[in-house]
Amino acid sequence: MYQKNCDRCFRPSFSSSEIGIWLCPICKNDLTEYPFFDAMTLERINVKVLPFQKKIDCYQNKLS
Ligand SMILES: [Zn+2]
Repeated sequence: MYQKNCDRCFRPSFSSSEIGIWLCPICKNDLTEYPFFDAMTLERINVKVLPFQKKIDCYQNKLS
């Protein structure tokens, strides 16, 4: 379970998936690029691999 903290409404939101777009359920702020936290320990989780992978895909799509 992941947690992100919205800096617009200052509410935490939760998800079990690190994939896809993450919108704040309260104010609809786009939290996709915000850091992930472990919902249990509140430790910051490094999931930079996934956005990086997405950028590579975009780059390859432009070339083809
Ligand atoms: Zn919010």
